[in-house]
Amino acid sequence: MIETIQLSTDVLVIGAGAAGIRAAIEARKSGVDTIVAAKGCLGFAGSTFCSYSPTWGYQAATAIIDHDDSPEEHLKEIMESACGTADPNLADILVHEAAIRLEDLKKIGLDVDYIDGKPVQEIGCFSHRPRCFMVTGKSRIRDKFISALKSSGAQIIESLRITDLLVKDEVCIGAIGYNSTQIYVIWSKSVILATGGAGNLFIHNFNTSDLIGDGQILALKAGAALMNLEFMQIGFGITYPVEKMLFEGRLLQYGPKFKNTYSEEYLDNYLPVNVSKEDCLKDRAYHMPYSIRDCSMYLDIAAQQEVMAGRGTAHHSIYIDFRNIRSRDLVSTPVGARCYEGILAKGCDISRELLEMAPHIHAMNGGVCIDEFGATQILGLYAAGEVAAGPHGADRLGGNMMPATQVFGTRAGLYAAKHALQMKLNRRSVNEFHDNFDILKSWLTAKNKSIGLLKQLIHELRLTYWQHLLTVRTEAELVNTLDAITNAKKILASSRPGLDGSIDELYDLSSMILLGQAITEACRFRKESRGSHYRADFPQKNNRYACPFKIRLENERIKIDLE
Ligand SMILES: Cc1cc2nc3c(=O)[nH]c(=O)nc-3n(C[C@H](O)[C@H](O)[C@H](O)COP(=O)(O)OP(=O)(O)OC[C@H]3O[C@@H](n4cnc5c(N)ncnc54)[C@H](O)[C@@H]3O)c2cc1C
Repeated sequence: MIETIQLSTDVLVIGAGAAGIRAAIEARKSGVDTIVAAKGCLGFAGSTFCSYSPTWGYQAATAIIDHDDSPEEHLKEIMESACGTADPNLADILVHEAAIRLEDLKKIGLDVDYIDGKPVQEIGCFSHRPRCFMVTGKSRIRDKFISALKSSGAQIIESLRITDLLVKDEVCIGAIGYNSTQIYVIWSKSVILATGGAGNLFIHNFNTSDLIGDGQILALKAGAALMNLEFMQIGFGITYPVEKMLFEGRLLQYGPKFKNTYSEEYLDNYLPVNVSKEDCLKDRAYHMPYSIRDCSMYLDIAAQQEVMAGRGTAHHSIYIDFRNIRSRDLVSTPVGARCYEGILAKGCDISRELLEMAPHIHAMNGGVCIDEFGATQILGLYAAGEVAAGPHGADRLGGNMMPATQVFGTRAGLYAAKHALQMKLNRRSVNEFHDNFDILKSWLTAKNKSIGLLKQLIHELRLTYWQHLLTVRTEAELVNTLDAITNAKKILASSRPGLDGSIDELYDLSSMILLGQAITEACRFRKESRGSHYRADFPQKNNRYACPFKIRLENERIKIDLE
């Protein structure tokens, strides 16, 4: 028997990562009732708490270590790496408020790392100055955030997946979702999306399994615009013998060999005449993410192309070989020692064993369009954190997403609460939303006797997206991707509850189809190469595209407008 629970609140926050928790705390400070709905297990779902890296980098221009640093320098670096595609207003807010929000983190007991009494500040990827504070210890981060959320007095509902926003006359009035036995209808004066990224669109990703772009799709279906979807942080990750482990680029300074499954060193086959392997390794040692702004791009392109040509391993990967380098040499520098020992701690001695490695998605640079208040174009709907776009562009500075979660989480919480204080609750009959409700009911009540159809489709789409939407994009392959999406859509439309798959698979696939389509169209539209977006058929930058563009859903079609 499926129970339906109806709740009312002032502010509903969807997602309980750094952005959602920050927003909820801020909303509660304004004295409004707040519900936090989180898909997974509190403190274990989402990128904020994921264990794939033990440390957060957090950029804030405090000039403690580098006395010449300033928010203006920080802004300059953001705009430089965004190559014209970040929102200058939001980036300006980010650089001026990052340090203030870092003080808020200290207030909840989350201090930065120190060595010899001085805060550690490293140079983040694509940065030039030591501005990136480090916060180490995911269990410490988790404990401090969760206890701050609990003491804020917000009502927390775990394991609740929001599937639809309730929108009437272009005003967001709540949301609907499910857990294993119940349907929730939550009427709310303001709703904040804080659902994080979409890494699970791709077979290789560093995200927890709950992140598949639900928030981006909720916003798109509600009528809000998205932007910068074609820009992502992509970096090498290890796929075997350990899984989902970030590959530390600084290990490349030791000159490992890149090999395909036939033990051939393939890299030279992809390098232009004026570029050497050493050039690529040297450039990549300064940043983890893939970017066409320097020649390290050939490392990722070559790896992907080798796999696509059928010369990859069974894990859709290539080999990286450090066996010609002695472990004593690997540990001879602090960075080398840290990386070598990090992998060793997972049970793999890279001076003896081959590693399998592939480009992974790390985070989305784009997402839902917001203004300086964290508001979308839909009244009552806000967004913050990785789901939101604006402060980042074609390439994102390493350590800039955490401040974005805090700066825009705070703003979204504050302004969503202000909005709620001025509004009346618009509680309506559930029957007005019977379409969404009926789907949920039929899939939740169906007995799960799945023949695995949706699961198989999800796997195939993930592979297709990884092959054609990640490092190398061409018109022909983007069109093929759209064909695969159309096919998946047809199968999904006629799928049978319980028999073809579970309710989770239904909504995973729905998000994958629509967000995949939006990303593919964005990649097709941008007929040039810029930052993390590489079109092999348009390898140069084209000034016509030196700006973000807005993506909307109109009559079930993706529509794109240049800004
Ligand atoms: C391995 C790794 C290392 C990183 N390191 C850094 C770093 O050092 N510095 C930096 O700045 N950035 C870093 N990033 C990026 C940064 O961690 C993330 O962008 C950031 O944590 C996102 O926070 P968030 O609150 O927006 O989303 P998340 O922390 O991902 O939280 C999203 C929340 O939304 C929930 N959710 C999703 N869909 C639904 C739904 N339909 N209904 C209800 N709830 C839902 C999820 O379960 C989760 O609770 C890293 C990312 C990864 C993966």
